Amino acid sequence: MEINVTNYPSFPQSIDILTGKERVQSIDRLQIIFKVVERCNINCSYCYYFNMGDESALSRPSIVSFDNAISIAIWIAKGCVELNIKNVDISFHGGEPMLLPIKRFKSICKILNDAISKFAHLTLSIQTNGTILNKDWIEIFEEYEINVGFSIDGYREANDRYRLNKDGSSTFDIIVKNILTINSSKSLSSKLKLSTISVIDPMNDYHKVYKFLRSLGIIEMSFLLPDNNVDTLTDKNFIDGCGRAMFDVFEEWLIEDNPEVTIRHIEDVLPFYNIHVSRSPAQKASKNQILVAQSNGKIAVNDSFIPALNWYRTTPEINTKEKIMLEFLHDSVFDEIEYIINSPSKECFSCKWLKVCGGGDMENRFSTKDGFNNPSIYCNAYKIYYQSLEKLLVKNKFPIALLPFGDN
Ligand code: SF4
Repeated sequence: MEINVTNYPSFPQSIDILTGKERVQSIDRLQIIFKVVERCNINCSYCYYFNMGDESALSRPSIVSFDNAISIAIWIAKGCVELNIKNVDISFHGGEPMLLPIKRFKSICKILNDAISKFAHLTLSIQTNGTILNKDWIEIFEEYEINVGFSIDGYREANDRYRLNKDGSSTFDIIVKNILTINSSKSLSSKLKLSTISVIDPMNDYHKVYKFLRSLGIIEMSFLLPDNNVDTLTDKNFIDGCGRAMFDVFEEWLIEDNPEVTIRHIEDVLPFYNIHVSRSPAQKASKNQILVAQSNGKIAVNDSFIPALNWYRTTPEINTKEKIMLEFLHDSVFDEIEYIINSPSKECFSCKWLKVCGGGDMENRFSTKDGFNNPSIYCNAYKIYYQSLEKLLVKNKFPIALLPFGDN
């Protein structure tokens, strides 16, 4: 398949890269990051959305209008029909999505539900900084079975390193209070799910962070590497520390030995060792298409690529009245993304961890000089994590002959 991508060398590869029509037809799940509010009530210093040099969010409406929400809902519903998409996940994001007036939030849930669920299985979730909550919000979460993700970096000192109010004061007490409230007010029949996202900082003790989150009753956790690219992160100690942090979480998870606790970076690895976790590599490999719906009603490319800002600024945005989903997804930028993701840098092809690592997240591979033709800036962190995890499994009697990544 001829790919219209310039500036990228061709690499040896074993993966089929789908382009254009084939790529669009292979979508199993559509994920929409819906920016219902494009402002925030707190100021996390590492925030990719407001503190990484991209100020475009501030030029868009602070909250989504009713009309824009309707246009977006209809655009998604039509897209499901055009492309025969059977699963849609919509995640309310911001800024801080709970700054939306609660009545409008409820109406938007209804609009999305009415428009889309006739054609596809719809799941709703929200990612919040956890500083705003009352019983009305909890009722809506229950009514629409909304998965609630809280951002909290760990115990007080860990959380308050970056996640502060605009006046510099702590957000810790209110977040903890709200997590406990939501956990204790779930009705017995509730399908409401609660999870956390924590950004890694090697200054923290991750045995302690794990135990702390478990003490709040959290069973679904994600630990994210900070948003960086090859130009912005040069501190080797920091990178290595991130690898040790990921391993410390794994170690603590193994000690607790509770299969109900799910952690994304552990679920990504253990299936390779044939160790059962809730999500299999096959599920992970299913084709997701991620799009962003902005408060101005426009549709854009996945904004988790913002750390590759020089590139992200070149990506298209469309009005829902201008192009149907099928036309937008035929834009060459999506071929380019598919190509970049499936074309790790040359160094990665001689790395024993390539199958599990995939060369790292695309945005962490970016440099102004070489584009995406780099191993992830977190390469060493991954190697430390994978090696330490494997060593611990062997120590716990995992047969050396069955190690999935060889021994080079
Ligand atoms: S660990 Fe490093 S070299 Fe290996 S595949 Fe990942 S980014 Fe590439």
